Amino acid sequence: MRSVVLLSVVVVGLATTAVNGQLPTPEPLQTPEPSTEYPPEATTPGPPTTPGLEPDDLQLAEECDEELCKLPNCRCSSTDIPGGLLPRDTPQFVTITFDDAVNVINTVTYRNLLNGRKNSNGCPVGATFYVSHEYTNYKLVNELYNQGYEIALHSISHRTPQSYWATATYNDIKQEIADQRVQIAHFANIPFESVKGVRLPFLQLSGNTSFQVMADYGLEYDCSWPTGAFREPGLWPYTLDYASIQDCMTPPCPTASIPKTWVLPMVSWTDLDGFPCAMADSCHFTPDLDDEEVWYKFIVGNFEKHYLGNRAPFGFYIHEWYLASNPAVQAAFVRFMNLISNLPDAFMVNSSEVLDWVKNPIPVNEYRAKSCRTWSPTACAFQPDCGPLEGPNGMSYWMGACNVCPSVYPWTGNPFGM
Ligand SMILES: [Zn+2]
Repeated sequence: MRSVVLLSVVVVGLATTAVNGQLPTPEPLQTPEPSTEYPPEATTPGPPTTPGLEPDDLQLAEECDEELCKLPNCRCSSTDIPGGLLPRDTPQFVTITFDDAVNVINTVTYRNLLNGRKNSNGCPVGATFYVSHEYTNYKLVNELYNQGYEIALHSISHRTPQSYWATATYNDIKQEIADQRVQIAHFANIPFESVKGVRLPFLQLSGNTSFQVMADYGLEYDCSWPTGAFREPGLWPYTLDYASIQDCMTPPCPTASIPKTWVLPMVSWTDLDGFPCAMADSCHFTPDLDDEEVWYKFIVGNFEKHYLGNRAPFGFYIHEWYLASNPAVQAAFVRFMNLISNLPDAFMVNSSEVLDWVKNPIPVNEYRAKSCRTWSPTACAFQPDCGPLEGPNGMSYWMGACNVCPSVYPWTGNPFGM
């Protein structure tokens, strides 16, 4: 069941829609009005269709049948290019993603690297932020959204140990991910519907559980699942209606049929010794961290496995700290983005834009002529950061927010901090 919920606060400050990549004239910022009924609900609305259903009860997925599984809502896991296009007619998508809390330090890097950058079709580049709640400043999440980037989910607590996520229950994931969606829409004052994607902490899958929660709460795609086996050619995004052919690098992996739920496979890079790395900053045998030239070649070499192959989306998955603490790597990354901006058939986009294309694949010449992505700018209140707020384990937090301050630090089980 898809839950469509409009929190009253989300619509405050909705203004014009950005068209053709032009940033709209900023509206005067207004303070969202506190409402007596606010927050309307303490937990994520929309009861799951299968509350508490354990993975063992789910129907095992069958081998995919291409005759039955057709776009736009179903796609077999495959290295085939959607729509049967030839590689040369296929847009090469590049998905830049950053994980974890959004704060005043890493936002400076995001602004410097991304703002004002355009693809060769004149559209502003995209990037996706997998945000975890702890230490996140929601005023800055609002800023990133208003620059046209995609905001996605990376859990409320990001708790350790990693094994927590492997064995998490339906309710654990519901509280960490489904509740985070309403939380981030609320505190960053961004549209609930704009939040579509999930990346689990440590890329640790939880079998069917996280996908079942996503399906029940209307989340569209997961980007947590690395593949080492399908690097060259790379695996294209697919749905979980049928059994996946993808190798399971971070078990347990899903085994059930979970219709219309998309997997954006994290096609691993290949390090200097041939080993796969799911994220650009998790490679073991890398070039010298001070050697910009070799790093540039390392990045381009991995990109070419896609660009000169089946053009599966090329992921540049990284944490800001890695770039900030390695200036030569950051310089190589900027050179790589400059290269992409100058290629007529490669595009840095938000992750959900890749899915939009996969659902309705069109040749690159048509894609280039399309209008740029649009979004609805939202306001953020002028107010000091909230705090000190009492948090878990006796900790004290400050939190930037675009809405009325919570009473305590928001956490799992209390996503609005009431
Ligand atoms: Zn993380």
